[in-house]
Amino acid sequence: MSEFDLIRKYFTRPTPSAELGVGDDAALLKITEGKVLAISTDMLVSGTHFLPNADAFQLGHKTLAVNLSDLAAMGAVPRWATLSLSLPFAQSGEACSELPHPNPLPEGDGTNEALCASKPTIDEEWLRRFSEGFFALADDNGVELIGGDTTRGPLNLCVTIMGEVPRGKALRRDGAKVGDDIWVSGKLGQAALGLANLQGKFKFYGEVRDECLKALHQPQPRVSLGLALRGIANSAIDISDGLHADLGHILECSHVGAEIEVEALPIVDDGVEKDVAQQCALAGGDDYELCFTAPENQRDVLMALAEQLKFPLTRIGHIKAELGCVVRDGEGKEMQIEKGGYDHFA
Ligand code: ADP
Ligand code: MG
Repeated sequence: MSEFDLIRKYFTRPTPSAELGVGDDAALLKITEGKVLAISTDMLVSGTHFLPNADAFQLGHKTLAVNLSDLAAMGAVPRWATLSLSLPFAQSGEACSELPHPNPLPEGDGTNEALCASKPTIDEEWLRRFSEGFFALADDNGVELIGGDTTRGPLNLCVTIMGEVPRGKALRRDGAKVGDDIWVSGKLGQAALGLANLQGKFKFYGEVRDECLKALHQPQPRVSLGLALRGIANSAIDISDGLHADLGHILECSHVGAEIEVEALPIVDDGVEKDVAQQCALAGGDDYELCFTAPENQRDVLMALAEQLKFPLTRIGHIKAELGCVVRDGEGKEMQIEKGGYDHFA
């Protein structure tokens, strides 16, 4: 199958809202009057962001979900996406070592081995499932795939997402005000617990484990929440590197500090020791929940919103003038956080 057959078969769908979609040198888009374009890119690398044997449907979902999460954090309506794929794609029967590679890598750096190791997962069935997962979430969110790039290489998935937000209405990291409440959506730490379990670092069982694995493999981007928070929240971010690290970005951009009550965190409260669940909530990655700040007078509005959206919104602390992020335990003592969040270069 050629690159073009592959694109046509798996990644070409109608794009009614674009003036021109997949198939030319560039797509053509028209932005709605009075709105600005919100653009974000996120790349998923095999072995770094997902396990090489991850389910293709769930991976298609997650590749788009992590990008939608960024638009959610900006309060933008998702519109379009591009998808760039590097695939260790082999025709049936073709040995991995015979795969022509456009830029052969120096021997022994492990990359070719990794490519071979992930080879059995990339075939037409994998592509079909991957595109189904991708388009199922795209359809749910009104996203049209308007282009991309496809190349042979180690498994690497990159989406650029585009959305619209009325000028001046975007949720930003730099708007937190002293006295704001700090809120988070959903439950935190599930994906980190799920990953720890798959890596054999941490054993737990049953429904809780299923939920954690679902959160890891198929996160639900909080797009509707982001939209509802326009005009309510003063600042927002999506939690991808852990609450402590990502809230830290709001604090830095807004030149303020924060105090968090660890007992208030929405954690996994069944089948897992409390302090493990709390550390995962503070410092685990891959949650894709929103953390936002809002004035005290929005509490009732936000509680009603949680009811309407059918997932929890939890008040976990407040913004203060003194810089830094203090996390307090049940007795009011300051806690040490084990890890500030996931940093690929740390
Ligand atoms: P060019 O050589 O001009 O860069 P390509 O051959 O890479 O164009 O791509 C041909 C068309 O297919 C372009 O419109 C491009 O946006 C689209 N495309 C390539 N890969 C993908 C993909 N994985 N998903 C969606 N569209 C893609
Ligand atoms: Mg190209």
